[in-house]
Amino acid sequence: MGTIRRKYVRCPHCGFTNYSNSEYCYRCNLKVKIDYSSINKSLAFLFTAFIFYIPANIYPILQSNKFLASYTNTIISGIFELWGDGDYPIAIIVFLASVLIPFLKFVILFYLNISVKSCKYLKIKRKLYKFVEISGPWSLLDVFVVFVLGALIHFQYVSIIPQKAALYFLLMVIFTILSSMSFDERLIGEECE
Ligand SMILES: [Zn+2]
Repeated sequence: MGTIRRKYVRCPHCGFTNYSNSEYCYRCNLKVKIDYSSINKSLAFLFTAFIFYIPANIYPILQSNKFLASYTNTIISGIFELWGDGDYPIAIIVFLASVLIPFLKFVILFYLNISVKSCKYLKIKRKLYKFVEISGPWSLLDVFVVFVLGALIHFQYVSIIPQKAALYFLLMVIFTILSSMSFDERLIGEECE
């Protein structure tokens, strides 16, 4: 269907242009061959991340103690509480950082993995990959800083204790990062001239 295998491939380590059939880089001797099995690895990590996304949203993520009373909140109930208290910007940021963006990353990584044979939207796909790759390690920071700051400032809670869902959330973030790290970026457009 008009797709021709590329004759050359750039070394991901030093940038040298090699023949695409060479396994190791002519200049730096490191592995240069594009690894198609990375798709399976990336999808397996992604599936695991998605599994953890579910309990991360179902179970309580924070316990807040205020004097003698203690409250637990799931991510969603925390967002509703913030919203109900009129903390709209924080509610929106928590929703974006802990619900919407992780979900978008699943969709992006899934799409990138299943569309390596397609030559459409290559520029957009490279940008999407960059977004997932760069934002990965920040995901955790975002969520907890925002949650804890929001709780401390707005409810004047005495102490904040992470709950079960925080662990699932952490695992979800780690497996999403593993999925994006396993994906060989050069697969985007590899089958296109
Ligand atoms: Zn090289």
